[in-house]
Amino acid sequence: MERRYLIRTFGCQMNEHDSERISGLLTAGGMTPTEDLDEAEVVVFNTCAIRENADNRLYGNLGHLKHLKAAHPDMRIVVAGCLAQKDQGAIQLRAPWVDVVVGTHALPQLLELLHRAEEDGPQMDVREYTEVFPSALPAARHDAFRAWVSIAPGCDNRCTFCIVPLVRGPQRSRSVGDVLAEVQMLARRGVVEVTLLGQNVNTFGRDLSIPESSRRPLFAELLRRVDEVEGIRRIRFTSPHPHDFTPDVIEAMAECDNVCEHIHFPMQSGSDRVLRAMQRSYRRDRYLGWLDRIREGVPGVGVSTDIIVGFPGETEKDFVDTLDVVERAGFDSAYTFQYSPRPGTRAASFEEQVPKEVVQERFERLVALQERISLERAREQVGRTFEVLVEGGDRKGRSAKSRTRTNRLVHLPGPFEPGTFTDAKITDAAPHHLSGEPLAPVSTAAAV
Ligand code: SF4
Repeated sequence: MERRYLIRTFGCQMNEHDSERISGLLTAGGMTPTEDLDEAEVVVFNTCAIRENADNRLYGNLGHLKHLKAAHPDMRIVVAGCLAQKDQGAIQLRAPWVDVVVGTHALPQLLELLHRAEEDGPQMDVREYTEVFPSALPAARHDAFRAWVSIAPGCDNRCTFCIVPLVRGPQRSRSVGDVLAEVQMLARRGVVEVTLLGQNVNTFGRDLSIPESSRRPLFAELLRRVDEVEGIRRIRFTSPHPHDFTPDVIEAMAECDNVCEHIHFPMQSGSDRVLRAMQRSYRRDRYLGWLDRIREGVPGVGVSTDIIVGFPGETEKDFVDTLDVVERAGFDSAYTFQYSPRPGTRAASFEEQVPKEVVQERFERLVALQERISLERAREQVGRTFEVLVEGGDRKGRSAKSRTRTNRLVHLPGPFEPGTFTDAKITDAAPHHLSGEPLAPVSTAAAV
């Protein structure tokens, strides 16, 4: 009988995408996926080191598995991802029943590590550099009609709150040809939407060169090349960094038919003092200036952001500055986080950590403000018609979830096949979703 595997993924889209690679590898190794823990013989935790309590959650999950493994000695437990890269040998010291610890650069070794674990007991590979780019690995994509495409893993910045440079290493851009080959392959398989992934997409290409030229490839050029791939109807990207943003990206967004009118533009704080302490090398006025230019160049663009509340040393005045920028920016949506120190980051050792109750109180004020703004922005959409792409539906087929090019979630009365394009007239609005009435379906992904 085939062995079954189960993958639990924590954290960001980069991790979700790595899980697709893990799934592809295990499938290539002759295993089949399951969602039932009781029948899984290989359990993989693809971990995140960014969010609060990431390690507590991991060790909680591992504690639960200890008993399961005692009852099923053939079960193999794998810890992958950023926490594996960061904690390395500490994981198997704390949880000796873990069979494999595989870091972010060692994914291609996963099957080999599992095999060696059968013969020789617990294994670990947390090498510090990538020998085989993940594009060379198989991927079992979650959806048939949309896919993430990694363009530049790693990061050369040193934001003081962030663990990514430590666990993902410096930025390594893929060649333009390599990215295009993957997008073309996806299009041939019926994918209609791709999201280009990088920690800082604007610096894509900085570590590459163009043969017989002194230039380096630019992210805007990559957008234009991906836009030419036949069959791809929606191109998204995440995330740009306000410091490295350039006008040619706005021009590419405006001129490329398939690049969606949405930008995730992480602000983090509206206080110049806090931005400096975070080592984010832009200031509030520059951030707002970019937003104006983006909105001018790409009319109707949807804008989302990330905001951290309670960074060490954040005063009430700093926080009010953040509220002020949020009000002026008029984000459609925001991912709001309460700061929590992450071991290994510089900010974790900063004095003046803000008391938990103060962080909580500020967080609630920020969320209330953003909810009001999100609702106002959502109500502006009522009565308008958008092309939406259906992403899924409820089990009984009574309603479907779809998305506009501007990244707004639209609930439709179902049923609809995932991957269907239709026009929808917006009838109602809430802060986090719209409701719409479908007009005639335009096409399905498979038919494109
Ligand atoms: S830009 Fe800053 S927040 Fe983003 S991954 Fe790099 S270090 Fe982390």
